[in-house]
Order: sequence, then structure tokens, then C-alpha cells
Amino acid sequence: MARGKLIVLSGPGGVGKSTISQELRKHDDFTLSVSYTTRKPRIGEIDGVHYHFVTDEEFTELVHNNEMLEHAEFAGNKYGTPRKEVESARDAGRNVLLEIEISGARQIREHDSSALLVFLMPPSWEVLKARIEGRGTDTPERIAARLALAEEEMAAAKEFDEILINHEVGEVVQGLIALAAR
Ligand code: 5GP
Repeated sequence: MARGKLIVLSGPGGVGKSTISQELRKHDDFTLSVSYTTRKPRIGEIDGVHYHFVTDEEFTELVHNNEMLEHAEFAGNKYGTPRKEVESARDAGRNVLLEIEISGARQIREHDSSALLVFLMPPSWEVLKARIEGRGTDTPERIAARLALAEEEMAAAKEFDEILINHEVGEVVQGLIALAAR
């Protein structure tokens, strides 16, 4: 049996990565990797489904034991991809999709040249800016920091194998399915 592909979906914060990965749950073309995080669950998030929620100590232990394929800190919380889950799904012939931020995508690139790196691009900078500013509860300082980070993250697009523009969720999902089938 052919080994499953590793597909990494990344892009700037606010571009809509998590909406895409939620939608992909309904499709049988991918296994979605469930990350570890030290962030507290948001309303509606289920442990083991959206994330494995762990303590800082547990996270450090997992890194120490080499159980993370990649890991990064984002907005004060830690996130990481479980190595074993990804490898066994791929060994079973399943395509695995990681929805992760940019520095994690770079780590995957370094260690696995066969991984397909996909950058999710907003239709325009204005659209991304409006999304970041529209998130409601953030202070002006926090919004400014998020905008600065997004600008930096946008510059990483050229490091990726493929770019998909997030005009519409269904279109991006079809694009990913086509890439996985290639
Ligand atoms: P959120 O807290 O909003 O769920 O996620 C924050 C950011 O962390 C998003 O950009 C998301 O893609 C990223 N992320 C989620 N899981 C992982 C992971 O396992 N590794 C890395 N590097 N980033 C992740």
C-alpha cells in the first residue's frame, strides 16, 4: 500500500485556516492531525477532537521524549503535532493534514522533503486586515501586534509549494483534495 501524504496547511493568523480544517473533517480524503496545546479549550472545543489539551509540564515532557513532529509557541501558548499519530495514519495509507502556523511548517519542511506545503492566502491584505480588526475582544495594542505578525507571515508564502487563495471555503477544500490526489 502506498504511504499517505503529509499535507501542511499554513498561512497568516486570521486567514481562515481553522474554518477550512473544520470543513475537511467532513471529507474522507484526509486524516486531520489533532495537535497538543497548552491553550485552554474554547467553548465547543472537545479534548481529543479539536486538540489534546495538556498542561505546560505534559507538553514539555512530550517534547523531551521526542513525541512531537514539530512544535511552536503562538500568542503565548504552545502547540505541537503528535509524531506517532501522523506516522501510523500515513503507514495505513491515509493522507494526513496538519493545520499549523508558519514556523511549524518550516520545521516539517526541514525534516520531511516529501511533505506538501500549502499556503492559504487571503484574497487581499484589506480582507485579512478587516478580519483581524473585526475579531472583537482584542485591545488596539493586540490588534496592532497581530497585524504586524500577519505581515511577516505573508512574506513566507514564497517558501511554500502551493498557494491557495481563500475566496471561498468549498473552493479551497476542493483545491486541497485535488492536491492530495496528485
Ligand atoms: P488556535 O489557538 O486559534 O486554535 O491556533 C493558533 C495557531 O496555532 C493557528 O495558527 C494554528 O494553525 C496553530 N497551530 C495549531 N496546532 C498547531 C501545531 O500542532 N503546531 C503548530 N506549529 N501550530 C499549530
